[in-house]
Amino acid sequence: MAEEKALTPRSEDFSAWYNGVVQRSELAGYSPVRGCMVIRPHGYAIWELMQRALDEMFKATGHQNAYFPLFVPESFLKKEAEHVEGFAPEIALVTRGGGKELEEPLVIRPTSEAIIWPIMADWIQSYRDLPMLINQWANIVRWEMRTRPFLRTLEFLWQEGHTAHATWDDAQRETLLILGLYRKFMEEWMAMPPVTGIKTEWDKFAGADRTYACEAMMQDNWALQAGTSHNLGQNFARAFDVKYQTEEGEHEYVWSTSWGVSTRLVGGLVMTHSDDLGLVLPPKLAPIQVVIVPIWKSEDEKVRVLEAGAQLKSTLEGEIRVKFDDRDTLNPGAKYYEWEEKGVPIRLEIGPKDLEKRQVMAVLRSSADAKRRKLPIPAGDVAARVPDLLDQMQQGLLDAALRRREESSYRGVTDYEEFKKIMSTGGGFIYTGYCGAEECETKVKDDTKATIRVVPDEDFGSETVPDTCICGGAAQHEVVWARAY
Ligand SMILES: [Zn+2]
Repeated sequence: MAEEKALTPRSEDFSAWYNGVVQRSELAGYSPVRGCMVIRPHGYAIWELMQRALDEMFKATGHQNAYFPLFVPESFLKKEAEHVEGFAPEIALVTRGGGKELEEPLVIRPTSEAIIWPIMADWIQSYRDLPMLINQWANIVRWEMRTRPFLRTLEFLWQEGHTAHATWDDAQRETLLILGLYRKFMEEWMAMPPVTGIKTEWDKFAGADRTYACEAMMQDNWALQAGTSHNLGQNFARAFDVKYQTEEGEHEYVWSTSWGVSTRLVGGLVMTHSDDLGLVLPPKLAPIQVVIVPIWKSEDEKVRVLEAGAQLKSTLEGEIRVKFDDRDTLNPGAKYYEWEEKGVPIRLEIGPKDLEKRQVMAVLRSSADAKRRKLPIPAGDVAARVPDLLDQMQQGLLDAALRRREESSYRGVTDYEEFKKIMSTGGGFIYTGYCGAEECETKVKDDTKATIRVVPDEDFGSETVPDTCICGGAAQHEVVWARAY
């Protein structure tokens, strides 16, 4: 067998490193269809854990799941003018079916507003039917030209929420509620703390009044737009004639929202935590949280360590996602390498010496890099210690990500030369005053490839916003700039 090529280090080529981690940790593979990916079992298991956590959050706030068709009649998509204009370049169209030309071509959904609203229009009659809080787990097709596994693919998996409300205030509350849920999920589950805020007018979702986004900083200091929540105003209600009868008997258009996160989050997870050994996973999203590796030389030792390993597995099972790697086709070193590369947070080694000392040796994945932390645990304490260790590792990853984000955040920058210098030497999130002109952003983008990510929410905004924009004009408000995926 040929020697396997080592993972390209992050410092050498971040993009090659990312692709290497995705391939080698068996998250995803390339498909025969350009721009599509195959999500492999290890990657899909992470997505399922994400789904489960998000789904519980949605249901706890009153949302219900439903499922709508994959195909959208082309004429439906054309009903909301901005919406169709925004999505037209990315649309895949089915023109033949059953061996015949279709009377009306069908769009494969790039998002589902145009199929959901005509249907929900029938479900909503009066104010008693509101709010209508629907979520869908589905696949989406957007004909992207440049694709990368998880970050941008032709077909991807996501959830899309679609809600209807009686007033603008209610729709706005919903939009912000979901933005908050996304942020909580990214912080508490992914250990990937995003900056949240509102998008500029020209960077909104096609057909929205307001778009809010979560922008997370990756290890290369680029931003990843990780989730969006849109207040759609009455735009879609007018386009699809979605009205309700008020308590006073009047007929009014509903106010609506839509919001989504996708398998892109898996890419964000990789780029937030992983290292030059491979994948690093926050324990809450690790399909395998603990792997037990028995070590033996003689047959006698084998019998004893296998028995101890099986017992340890049954002790941890239930509370912990644990795997007992008792394969005798691989030596322990090869097993260590495989599970480290796949990001298993804790490895428990049991050898004859550990049995003598009545202990197991824990090795923690996320304290990796040069020296990995080894920790002997008395056999009787394992069941109590392991959950604590996993919690500490989860917190440790969040702390590290926060620290990294703040170390590469620059506030109150007013000098454009300084701005350009930061962007050309490592980059990061730069907070500046902003004049509000689109041409101003275009120039900065041409010069530095950085774009405005959001107008930051209060939690992230600076105490004093510079009164000048980096173009020298008067600032209207603060914005966050970064290069973005
Ligand atoms: Zn400006």
